[in-house]
Amino acid sequence: MMGSVLIYYFYTTIYDVVAIQQWQLEICNSLGLKGRIIIAPEGINGTIGGSCEATQAYSKALREHPLFSQVDIKVSIGNSDCFPRLRIVVKKEIVRLGIDPTVVRADQAGRHITAEETHKLLESKSDNLVVLDVRNDYESAIGKFEHAVIPPIKTFREFPAYIYKNKDMFKNKDVLMYCTAGVRCERASAFLKSLDLARDVMQVYGGIHRYVERFPEGYFRGKNYLFDERRAVKINDDIMAQCSFCRTSYDTYINCSNTQCNKQIISCLACKDEYKTTCSNVCKDLVLTGRVKQRSFRPCFIVPAKQN
Ligand SMILES: [Zn+2]
Ligand SMILES: [Zn+2]
Repeated sequence: MMGSVLIYYFYTTIYDVVAIQQWQLEICNSLGLKGRIIIAPEGINGTIGGSCEATQAYSKALREHPLFSQVDIKVSIGNSDCFPRLRIVVKKEIVRLGIDPTVVRADQAGRHITAEETHKLLESKSDNLVVLDVRNDYESAIGKFEHAVIPPIKTFREFPAYIYKNKDMFKNKDVLMYCTAGVRCERASAFLKSLDLARDVMQVYGGIHRYVERFPEGYFRGKNYLFDERRAVKINDDIMAQCSFCRTSYDTYINCSNTQCNKQIISCLACKDEYKTTCSNVCKDLVLTGRVKQRSFRPCFIVPAKQN
């Protein structure tokens, strides 16, 4: 089934998070949507998939709510099979930076820079401009902006410590941040601004998603990592990563088929076969001797390259 996946976020004060959660549950269930939505007093953050009709009806309902009329909804190819289930949860933050959202507030974020403005900035990149990837290292491993600084972080929660440790890198600089679709930059840029280090703090509005829609052969090279069954969208033919076993140029992630390990690694087709879709000789042995449960694979949703 062809359909759509919607990615959106909106920072706004939500007083009754439980009421919004109930409302979202009703809409998503009635439309047969799957995915995950996080609701917090600071806003909403969702990635959901379903048929084209269902996702359109969802977008309309969301925009008709007075709190979310200004939401920017990104649409890509996919469907409800991109998600194992529907999860709508209430949390403290819509992406976990680990800092109280009333202390580092999204309304103190850096300037929004459009895809076109981003492209222009990179075309004539000044030495004072630092392009900063605020995603995790396994995301930037398979695709990133040219000349971007890549923090060696495993989760967004490690971002503040990374900045503290590398203060000098941002002193008096113009910092242009980016992430997948923008939600992390809102607070990451607010955090950097709060330190009063950089001369200017900017964020790519709509993130990689909006930039590559406009410039598929632009300064973003490789794949855009996704947190759903699609795993990534191929943006152009550049391959930025290597097979973790044989180091051949390759950029498709798998999860170790040992259910107790589940480690995410890049494994080329030959090594996937050799290691029986596991991450190591240890896991391969455990799986082959039946000492652990092996995950059964369902056919993964294939994303066509170049969506526009
Ligand atoms: Zn290999
Ligand atoms: Zn493993």
